[in-house]
Amino acid sequence: MSRSVLVTGGNRGIGLAIARAFADGGDKVAITYRSGEPPEELTALGVLGVKCDITDPEQVESAYKEVEASHGPVQVLVANAGITRDQLLLRMSEEDFEAVLQTNLTGTFRTVKRACRGMLRARSGRIVLISSVVGLSGAAGQANYAASKAGLVGFARSLARELGSRNITVNVITPGFVDTAMTQVVGEERKAEILRQVPLGRYAQPEEVADAVRFLASDQATYITGAVVPVDGGLGM
Ligand code: NAD
Repeated sequence: MSRSVLVTGGNRGIGLAIARAFADGGDKVAITYRSGEPPEELTALGVLGVKCDITDPEQVESAYKEVEASHGPVQVLVANAGITRDQLLLRMSEEDFEAVLQTNLTGTFRTVKRACRGMLRARSGRIVLISSVVGLSGAAGQANYAASKAGLVGFARSLARELGSRNITVNVITPGFVDTAMTQVVGEERKAEILRQVPLGRYAQPEEVADAVRFLASDQATYITGAVVPVDGGLGM
């Protein structure tokens, strides 16, 4: 059965791989992207691209209206959009802190809340949040990012309790280091140091995160909710 799937931040990196995986599986997929244009490969797959900054409530509302008009109410939401603004604590401005919280946590709250309108009506839905291993372990220079990603875990587990009786599952994936633009800023020396701590000895490919997302949204995962699923090569254990 073809479902209406929305992936936030689906124009590149992990979100792009997730959108591609659902589209390949025959679902009706929409992505949001903050700037530029949606990638041609997704347009060719019939994926709907909607420009939307999740920090702006009006843009989120109009994005949902566009997706609903084209694909019907969202049945699977993948809240993937996120940013980093790394800085050691004493150099971290309130603005650096707030910007990351506003996107990663409040933006996700806003996106999930809007999706739940239709899911509650349908008494069915799948929500997958993309957190990070850093939300569980912390990371020097990423206090803002870690706080936002840890916040997603409490947020998801609360919603899993709140929405379970309506057959809506809410799960979290905590990727380790994934080969995307976000990690390309890491220097070679630091990368080698990171890889020494990863039992599988390499970065993940975005498609490996997408596989876990698709599983959590599939008929093979009907009894899984409130779970925090690591896709981290063993880094976080
Ligand atoms: P990326 O920077 O390549 O992509 C981030 C996406 O989020 C982009 O599509 C961007 O447009 C979107 N986005 C950012 N701010 C937005 C806003 N205000 N409104 C709408 N969209 C916005 O990063 P990525 O590596 O693909 O990361 C995707 C997710 O996975 C993020 O939440 C990130 O924190 C998480 N993650 C990444 C890694 C990694 O190693 N790359 C590890 C753990 C978790």
